[in-house]
Amino acid sequence: MMKVSIALLLGFVIPFEMDNYIMWTLIGLFLLSNGLFVIASFKDPGNIKKSNEISFLKLNKYFDPSYICPKCEVLRTPESRHCFICNKCVDRFDHHCHWLNTCVGAGNHLWFYAYLVSVWSYLVFNIFVCIYAMVHQQKVPEYLVVIQPRI
Ligand SMILES: [Zn+2]
Ligand SMILES: [Zn+2]
Repeated sequence: MMKVSIALLLGFVIPFEMDNYIMWTLIGLFLLSNGLFVIASFKDPGNIKKSNEISFLKLNKYFDPSYICPKCEVLRTPESRHCFICNKCVDRFDHHCHWLNTCVGAGNHLWFYAYLVSVWSYLVFNIFVCIYAMVHQQKVPEYLVVIQPRI
């Protein structure tokens, strides 16, 4: 997704001569969506940390084993799930996002949705700008016109 947005910015947006406010809106949306992407990917999704004070054997002794994750050796919360890709238990687990390469959970849910909204608004705005640029082709610089029809 990040590569697509960079390609759109470099290939379709910057070469076109357009009004400054459209250009800066696109660059702002580009920076916003990529910033939110970085925050959502690197923020802790809500991994449940293993306690150093209580051992796994004591956990099994005092709690119902169905509330204990045998892989992480932690006490599960009601909405937590074990992610088999990250090999961690995540609180309020939503899904493992392959785009972000991390889980989406209690810690980064808000950042994930903010990223989705920003990247979609950037892409939709980009499509409108591309259509506008195609309709008004006289604004395309001549060095970009590689293929010209022979008359
Ligand atoms: Zn687990
Ligand atoms: Zn995961």
